[in-house]
Amino acid sequence: MTDLTTLGIAAIRDGVRDGQFKAREVAEAFNAKVAGARALNAFLVETPDHALAAADAADAARAAGETLKPLAGVPIGMKDLFATKGVATTAASKILEGFVPPYESTVSQNLWNAGAGMLGKLNLDQFAMGSSNETSAFGNVISPWRRPNDTAALAPGGSSGGSSTAVSAGLAPGATGTDTGGSIRQPAAFTGISGIKPTYGRCSRWGTIAFASSLDQAGPMARDVRDCAIMLEAMAGFDAKDATSLKLDVPNWEAALSTDLKGKRVGVPKEYRVDGMPGEIEALWQQGIDWMRDAGAEIVEVSLPHTKYALPAYYIIAPAEASSNLARYDGVRYGLRDLPEGAGLQDMYAATRAAGFGDEVKRRILIGTYVLSAGFYDAYYTQAQKVRTLIARDFERAFEQCDVLLTPTAPSAAFALGEKQADPLAMYLNDVFTVPASLAGLPAMSVPGGLDKDGLPLGLQIIGKPLDEQGVLNAGLAIEQRAGFTARPQAWW
Ligand code: GLN
Repeated sequence: MTDLTTLGIAAIRDGVRDGQFKAREVAEAFNAKVAGARALNAFLVETPDHALAAADAADAARAAGETLKPLAGVPIGMKDLFATKGVATTAASKILEGFVPPYESTVSQNLWNAGAGMLGKLNLDQFAMGSSNETSAFGNVISPWRRPNDTAALAPGGSSGGSSTAVSAGLAPGATGTDTGGSIRQPAAFTGISGIKPTYGRCSRWGTIAFASSLDQAGPMARDVRDCAIMLEAMAGFDAKDATSLKLDVPNWEAALSTDLKGKRVGVPKEYRVDGMPGEIEALWQQGIDWMRDAGAEIVEVSLPHTKYALPAYYIIAPAEASSNLARYDGVRYGLRDLPEGAGLQDMYAATRAAGFGDEVKRRILIGTYVLSAGFYDAYYTQAQKVRTLIARDFERAFEQCDVLLTPTAPSAAFALGEKQADPLAMYLNDVFTVPASLAGLPAMSVPGGLDKDGLPLGLQIIGKPLDEQGVLNAGLAIEQRAGFTARPQAWW
């Protein structure tokens, strides 16, 4: 019998529907995989019973001859940034230790409504701030990938590193991610899986722990493009509880998947040829361009002149919003409370926040508070907002000449844990290709393109027009078909 954990979302859905195997067998197989992979530290909480209950519901529905829900029998991993009713939710921060939400986030509820079950809550960078998972208060996730003849622990990417690890190590067929400046795409690229950040507003932010509200967007991470399309259909949709939620129907992305790019124009932004980009990334990008041409697309060079200002603008805007969002963790309402003997209210706030937030979170709060302070607001925050508008306009102009853009996802393959930790700026540079689409609110996805000289995955990024997830998915599928990427990490855990 096939190992059910080798199957992706579509195969599990179809197999359960057609009676090839029971949903319960699928859930049991993945639960066992999760329990056997604790060395990776991908899960903060395991919820095998949740997965089993959803599976039993799917099996019962099939036995009763009912039409199965779109994700019936599919167990998934849930990034621990989504509030899950009755299941501890910490955003990988000590400040939320012990917090058990009395409510369910809209995105997770949508997935349960579609029949999915939960394998557990996935580790991440604390409050989704980071690119390597090293800012988690509960230990970093370790990538399942290794360089040949080398046991050095590699970064799974961040902030959705638990999600990327769970999917690439075969612990879950799919997982939720969130992307503020690249946190779905960069970890997907580092681990050889696919992930899409939809247009800002497609997925409700309600019940997702806020980092930078004007940028935060949920999306799926899965083994291939089709699985991403299926999962995104379940996650997305209008929600009156989120004022920035888009009042639009969810398209049937899976049904409209096509690898024929005839008549499509693919833009290649010349400003993404950054100094110091490794030759292998450059070569993969060129390979991607050739694949797009082979799929029938016309290639056009486009210019996004303000690209070099995107990273500095992001690292002003995101911390500014974070400093405001994180003001709510004061020891009164959620999680940790540090109340020194004889202390007053202010002392309690200070002691709680000093003990509860990690260093990177504190750094963001300090930067954010500084750029929003009366004396510096115009010099930093207002300027960054203007840059954001210019970047969005760059994309609008580029999309007059093309339908989607093709770029590398990240400027390198996975680096070793510890390698960039001492230098926050080196870490921030990892987001150079992902941040512009975030600032402009555009849909963007990473698909695996190939391996570097050390056998580590490299990703290609496709950026689309607002609401054109279909164009992004189709271009991604065209690459997937041509790249024939089947590499998987060798189990060492
Ligand atoms: N690495 C980026 C940051 O640290 C992006 C994080 C994210 O998208 N959540 O802010």
